[in-house]
Formats: sequence, C-alpha cells, structure tokens
Amino acid sequence: MSKKVLVIGEAKEGSLRNVTFEAIAAANIVSDGGEVVGVLCGDGDLDEMGQEMVYHGAARVITISNPELKTYTSDGYGQAVYQVIEDESPEGIIMGHTAIGKDLTPKLASKLESGLISDSTEVVAESGNIVFTRPIYSGKAFEKKEITDGLIFATIRPNNIPAMERNDSLSGEVTEKDVEITNIRTVIKDILRKSSDGIDLSEAKVIIAGGRGVKSEEGFEPLEKLAEVLGGTVGASRGACDAGYCDYSLQIGQTGKVVTPDLYIACGISGAIQHLAGMSNSKVIVAINKDPEANIFNVADYGIVGDLFDVVPKLIEEVKEM
Ligand code: FAD
Repeated sequence: MSKKVLVIGEAKEGSLRNVTFEAIAAANIVSDGGEVVGVLCGDGDLDEMGQEMVYHGAARVITISNPELKTYTSDGYGQAVYQVIEDESPEGIIMGHTAIGKDLTPKLASKLESGLISDSTEVVAESGNIVFTRPIYSGKAFEKKEITDGLIFATIRPNNIPAMERNDSLSGEVTEKDVEITNIRTVIKDILRKSSDGIDLSEAKVIIAGGRGVKSEEGFEPLEKLAEVLGGTVGASRGACDAGYCDYSLQIGQTGKVVTPDLYIACGISGAIQHLAGMSNSKVIVAINKDPEANIFNVADYGIVGDLFDVVPKLIEEVKEM
C-alpha cells in the first residue's frame, strides 16, 4: 500500500550530508510508490539544499529556516519537525542514524507514542511488508524487523543503503514553513572543536585507521598520506586516542563512531572486541600488524604481517603508480 513518508534531512557546514540522500532512497522503498516528503531545518536560505533533495528522489521538500535552528538542539529541531509531522500526518519517517538522528528520533518517537527501528543497514519490501535489517550484539549478528501497526519510523546507518542517482530533471516543490519555536532549554555558547576536518568519518568510503602501533602523533603521517592517495580519511582505535596520538573525534568502536566504509585499513590495531564493534561491517577490511596472532586478522579480508612503517609507504607508492 502506498504511503506518505517524511525524510528528515541533515546538513553540515552548508551542504547536505550524503545520508540524507540514502534516507530518501530508503523512504522511496517504504513509500511503495507513495509520496516522499523532505524536511530540512536550519537558518538562512535552504532552498538550494531542498532542491538537491528533490533531485535525489523527494517529491517535495519543506524547509524551516529560523535563527533558533542555526545549530542543532533537540528542543529546537524537535519542535520544528514535530509541527511538520502534525501538518503532514505521514505514515513513515526516515532519518540518518547520525549523532543528530540518534538524539532527535527517540524524542520524536516518544512524543508520537511510536516505535522506532534504529540503525538499519538494509530496507526491503517483502511481499507487501517493509523489512528492516539491523545489527545487534555489537555487529556480531543481524536481526530483521518490521512494523506491523502504526507509524513506520526508522533510522538508517550511513553508507549502507545506496542513494538514488542525482537527476536534475526531477521536479518538486520546495516550500518554506514558518514555525514558532519556544522554550529552548539548551544554549550552544561556543563550538570549541570541530569533530573533524574534511571527509566525515561515518560517511567515508575509505578509512585508514591507526592504533597504538603507530607509536606517536607523527606516526599517523604515513596513514594520512595513504588516506590522501586513496581519497579517504584517517580514523583511530581508542588505544591511539588514549595514548594522545590523535583526537578522540577519530575514535572508532563501541564508544566511538560506527563506520561501514568500502575499504578499512587497520594499521597497528590489535582488534579488541570494542574496536571491532565499530568497524567489522566494513565491506573490505585490510589489516597490517606485525603480530600474526593479532585478533584483527580474524575479521580481515586481507592481512599483511609486517611493520606498518615499512608496509604503508610501499602501499602509497603502489597506489600512486596505479
Ligand atoms: P593495542 O591493543 O595495544 O594493539 C596495538 C597493535 O599494534 C598490536 O596488535 C601490535 O602487534 C601492533 N603493532 C605494534 N607496532 C606495530 C608496527 N610497527 N607495525 C604493525 N603493527 C604494530 N577501543 C576502540 O578502539 N574503540 C572503542 O570504542 C573502545 N571502546 C571501549 C569501551 C570499553 C568499555 C572498554 C573497556 C574498552 C574500549 N576500547 C575501545 C579499548 C579496547 O579494549 C582496546 O584497548 C583498544 O582497542 C586497543 O587499541 P589498539 O588496538 O590500538 O592497541
């Protein structure tokens, strides 16, 4: 049965995050030929980004521009999106499983007295039902879930559901909605440190991750060079972060970021269970470690036993010659 499905878009530093397009693709599966409506909150002119959502498969987009939405607060975004939900009465809502998605969607689900399927890695239509697949037990198993009654509300893990090809011949209305936002209890006074420069770790297609084996801050330099030639970004184990070799914003794992790039190269990382929880669903895993017994080799598709300071420069040269 065709449905109206809302997609809560997300922008970072003036551009839409790729997971917004992936959410639109998922919403098109859920809508089953119905209407996919984008919602975008922020401050200033959101028209162009709204149009991008249309080019990626949203039938129309509602933008809410308000100075109170310049930076994310759960009060501000919660009120804005809730008012759109009240107006539109969608049968489904999809959002990226990002830091903002993880904060906003449970708040909305509780207000709507709805269930929520979080962190889905696959969405398929199976004989009239929408089935979501999501990892459990820190990625060691997957469960399939469907909502049989009420609102279909789900978040999707970045980098898992392919976005639809951008098509600028698609047309759809982008309309601005006025929303009253009151009683914001959180004030963002200052952003002291940006989470990362360049490619967002959770959306990166290639990640070169360093562990305690890199031995120092300078030890990350060859990894940065390899990331550069492969068009990727650098991540880290908690061991490397705890040792002060890099910023905690790079931490991957149970208490860090969960990533699913196409290629994950683990350099000098032992493969503790808490690290695997954040990266074991990567599509291709390469491990470089001088200990042949290191646990990381148990999840690796390709393993190189050797000193990362010998292996990584050789890889850089090989890639440059390709
Ligand atoms: P180590 O375990 O010390 O491994 C270093 C590896 O480098 C070794 O295998 C060694 O053989 C190899 N090596 C050394 N020199 C070289 C060289 N020159 N070339 C090649 N290989 C070399 N960890 C996370 O990563 N993410 C998390 O989110 C996380 N959350 C946690 C939550 C909790 C509640 C707890 C208790 C722990 C958590 N940890 C997490 C920590 C985790 O248990 C490990 O301590 C950590 O992952 C180890 O980091 P590491 O692999 O870099 O270091």
